[in-house]
Amino acid sequence: MTERRYPDPSTTTPERVLMIQAHPDDAEFSIGGTMAKWAAAGAEIIYCSITSGDKGTKDPDITGEKLSAIREQEQLEAAKVLGVKDVIFLRYADATLVPDLTLRRDLTRVIRQVRPTALVCMDPTMRFAGDMYINHPDHIAAGEASVAAVFPSCRDRRTFPELLDEGLEPIEVNSVYVMGSANADCFIDVSDYMDVKIEALRKHVSQVGGDESDLAFVREWAQENAKLHPNKPEGFGDYAESFKYMHIG
Ligand SMILES: [Zn+2]
Repeated sequence: MTERRYPDPSTTTPERVLMIQAHPDDAEFSIGGTMAKWAAAGAEIIYCSITSGDKGTKDPDITGEKLSAIREQEQLEAAKVLGVKDVIFLRYADATLVPDLTLRRDLTRVIRQVRPTALVCMDPTMRFAGDMYINHPDHIAAGEASVAAVFPSCRDRRTFPELLDEGLEPIEVNSVYVMGSANADCFIDVSDYMDVKIEALRKHVSQVGGDESDLAFVREWAQENAKLHPNKPEGFGDYAESFKYMHIG
């Protein structure tokens, strides 16, 4: 990080943030503390949820439509807790997401509409996390489509010209934070925001419910992240969220 020619992404608050996730609750689990910290520091944060999580249940009686409606409401409430301004729902089908050109164009549209100064997305290269977790294929697809949309589609005038017809001019997004990466190089101290992160997670009642073990895991994960920081500055707290950071251009 000594050769960095841009502001330290771990201590800089982006002005306008677009966070793209596969499912309602992905952001809260992974980077809710950072969202709360940035919002408190004045960032305008918009979420885009590609699916509304219509497969995320063991209840044999609930319909996908009903579950989606519940999960969208839960996401809106969680976003409110964190200080997120708005949530865009693209309503793709859960669990069958593929990073095709339709999804890339839809995300390019959202990026050009929101015009963020920083994009937060999932990691398309993360397949296995440790020896206990196979990454959900939707997360990988969401990451791949997001990365492809930010570079080069949202920048290039001649890609998806139909978006120009909608009045959506190209935009360069220079700052990209990739969450859930095995190659994290940006560690954000979220010690003061763990309680609000947990409060936001509790809004996802259909997913977390009363499962305190999930919430305990989230705290342990943040502690592990803080320990992974290779050169922790003086005063860095016990809880961190991590990203692979890309500064483009
Ligand atoms: Zn997910």
